[in-house]
Amino acid sequence: MAKRDGKGRYQLFDARGDDTMSYRAALRTDLPAALAAGQLGLDYQPVIDLGSGAIVGVEALVRWDHPTQGRLSPADFMPLAEETGDIDEIGVWVLETAVRQVAGWRRSMSHCKDLWVSVNVSALQLTSAKSLARLEGILADPTICPQRVVLEVTETALATNIDGGITAINRLKSHGARLAIDDFGTGYSSLSTLAALPADILKVDRSFLAGHSKDAASAAMLEGILGLAGKLQLEVIVEGVEDVEQLDVLRGLGCGMGQGYFLAGPGPSTVIEALLAAGTGNRAPDLR
Ligand code: C2E
Ligand code: MG
Ligand code: MG
Ligand code: MG
Repeated sequence: MAKRDGKGRYQLFDARGDDTMSYRAALRTDLPAALAAGQLGLDYQPVIDLGSGAIVGVEALVRWDHPTQGRLSPADFMPLAEETGDIDEIGVWVLETAVRQVAGWRRSMSHCKDLWVSVNVSALQLTSAKSLARLEGILADPTICPQRVVLEVTETALATNIDGGITAINRLKSHGARLAIDDFGTGYSSLSTLAALPADILKVDRSFLAGHSKDAASAAMLEGILGLAGKLQLEVIVEGVEDVEQLDVLRGLGCGMGQGYFLAGPGPSTVIEALLAAGTGNRAPDLR
């Protein structure tokens, strides 16, 4: 068990095995109550049309404001949520909160009327019948405009149970939602798996863009993925645009959409709302 020090903090020594284990055990104890306690929140990260500079969508990214540990990233607690089963409740809350938020933005800002929202969905949410039914219930509400909802699933999540995953995705898609393959290129699925998926969008893992200027293989793969997506008539979002050189590379390749700290980082709803409001014609003010 993790001990708390005088300030109520868990003792964190370093990343060695035992201490990491007790840290995880402590978070696991706190996680089930976190949602009801209002400690979970969503940041939104803009997705940018690289041709116009417009914000065309936002990705919802969950955070946990832990009372003693501060703000935790999803990598710290979503794997735990999968182990504890809290993923079902959290996942329903994430979709519900994100679609309502963005529906509100579409209504309140006329230049954002086409803004879409994307939400990450884990494999477990697709395999649990109860969870799937609740996600479907959210998407069945036409006031949130399900056509403007993108569900992000990783190749790896789908690869473990490909047929069940496709059936589940198709149920969600029947309400109008679109499917994006997240972190594309890093999973274990084959190109034949990709061909079988009802994908609408490829989100190309940031490692390909990061490697583009450094090694010929990454460059060839990024260009190959963009070509493949074009032939399959899939939209493309390249992740991890961190500097102007990378943006120039993507523009040179005719890539449709990008996401990354250089374009716009994730921010709380108030900050993203201000960014959207400052844009005209759905164009963010300070994006090149
Ligand atoms: P992801 O869906 O691939 O999200 C992109 C991650 O990259 C986010 O990290 C984002 O903050 C980060 N990022 C954005 N731009 C850049 C950039 O230019 N450079 C770099 N290095 N990173 C960038 P975050 O928010 O920590 O999320 C990590 C992962 O946690 C997500 O990866 C997603 O797989 C998962 N996740 C987040 N929210 C949820 C959720 O609501 N449900 C589920 N199941 N998973 C979630
Ligand atoms: Mg994602
Ligand atoms: Mg991703
Ligand atoms: Mg990722």
